[in-house]
Amino acid sequence: MDIHEYQAKEILSGFGVEVPPGALAYSPEQAAYRARELGGEKWVVKAQVHTGGRGKAGGVKLCGSDSEIFDACEDMFGRKLVTHQTGPEGKGVYRVYVEAGVQIEREIYLGLVLDRSSQRVMIVASAEGGMEIEEISAERPDSIVRATVEPAVGLREFQAREIAFALGLMPSLVQQMVRTLQGCYRAFTELDATMVEINPLVVTGDGRILALDAKMSFDDNALFRRPQISELRDKSQEDPRESRAADRGLSYVGLDGNIGCIVNGAGLAMATMDTIMLSGGAPANFLDIGGGASPERVAKAFRLVLSDAKVQAVLVNIFAGINRCDWVAEGVVQALRELQVDIPVVVRLAGTNVEEGQKILAQSGLPVIRASNLMEAAQRVVGAWKNDVAQATEVRAAQ
Ligand code: GDP
Ligand code: MN
Repeated sequence: MDIHEYQAKEILSGFGVEVPPGALAYSPEQAAYRARELGGEKWVVKAQVHTGGRGKAGGVKLCGSDSEIFDACEDMFGRKLVTHQTGPEGKGVYRVYVEAGVQIEREIYLGLVLDRSSQRVMIVASAEGGMEIEEISAERPDSIVRATVEPAVGLREFQAREIAFALGLMPSLVQQMVRTLQGCYRAFTELDATMVEINPLVVTGDGRILALDAKMSFDDNALFRRPQISELRDKSQEDPRESRAADRGLSYVGLDGNIGCIVNGAGLAMATMDTIMLSGGAPANFLDIGGGASPERVAKAFRLVLSDAKVQAVLVNIFAGINRCDWVAEGVVQALRELQVDIPVVVRLAGTNVEEGQKILAQSGLPVIRASNLMEAAQRVVGAWKNDVAQATEVRAAQ
C-alpha cells in the first residue's frame, strides 16, 4: 500500500527525520490560509497523489503570494495529474500540501528498499539527488552508494557515518545525516514498510538536512497489525477494480486486454497470462483466488471479474492442491446461474477432485467450454473471444 507525501513526512518526522513545516489543504482558500499560518514569504504547493515525477508534471509549484497559491491550486484541484508513472489516465488531485519554501544548497537521493538477493534492507543513496533513481543509475551509476543492514543489529552509527562520508557531506552535517538514516531505517522495520524514499533530501543554506519529498510503501500482508498505517489508505488513488477486490480479500491485478483470468497462485497467473498472449489474446486482469477457496469465494471472484466492462471472455485456470476442483466447479456454476453471462467461459481444472469437478460442470447444462491443459484452454478462450468479436462486427455491419 502506498501513502501520500504528507503522511510519509509525518511518520518519518516521528522517527527523527527533519521535514519543513507544512499543512494540508482541501481547497484553494484553505491552502492560502494555511500558507499565512505557516508564515514566511515563499511556499511550495504540492499535489498529493500517489506518484513520483509530480514536479515535471506541474504538481509542485513554488509560490510567493496568496494569488499565486490560488492559481497553483486551481490548476491542480480536480485535475488528473499525469506523470511518467501514472499511465495516461493519471491520478486525481483532491488534496494539496503547502510547505514553507526552503533554500536548497544540495540535493541528495536516499532510498531504503528490500533487497531480495541479500534478504536485507538496502540503503541506496546518491549525491546526485533531484533526478529519479532510474536516471541516476543510467547517467551517474558510480555516484550510487549501497549498504545492506544486518537485521540482528540494525543500522549502527558507524555504518550510517560511512554512508554520510561517501556522500561527501561536511563533518558538521554527519550527525544529522546519521539521525536521518537511522530514523528511516527504524520507520522501515518497525512499520513493515517495503520502501522509503526521500528524493530530494536537501542540505539547506543554513546547514540543515531536510526531507523535501517522502514516499513510503507498506507490506499489504502486514497491514492487519498496523492499523495506524492501514487507516492512511486513500482509495481515490487506487485502481477501483483492485480496491474492490482487496476489500473482499482477493488479490486482483487490472490489465489492458479483454480476457478475464481466474487462477490460483501468482505463478500460475503469470503462466496463464503468457499462454494467453502466446495464443494471440491479451488478459484484462487476473484474479488470484488463493488456496482453499470455497464455492462462494469462487463465485465472488467471478462476479468481480465480470464487473469489469473490458472483459469479453473468461478463463478459469485452477491447479488444485489445497484447493478442490469440485468446489471451484460449484462456484463457477453458482456464479453462472446467478449472473447473466453472455460471454465465453473456458474452464481448465487439474489436481484434487478433478473428476468430480468435471462432472459438476458437465451436468450443469451450462455452456462452459472445458479444456484439459493450459495451452488448449488459452487457445479456446482466445478462439471463442475472436469469434464473438467477429460476430459482433458482422451484426453491426448488417445493421
Ligand atoms: P516529485 O517530482 O513528485 O518527486 O516531487 P518533489 O517533492 O521531489 O518536488 C520536485 C522538486 O521541486 C524537488 O526536486 C525540488 O527541486 C523542488 N522543491 C520541492 N520543495 C521545494 C522547496 O521548498 N523549495 C525549493 N526551492 N524547491 C523545492
Ligand atoms: Mn521527489
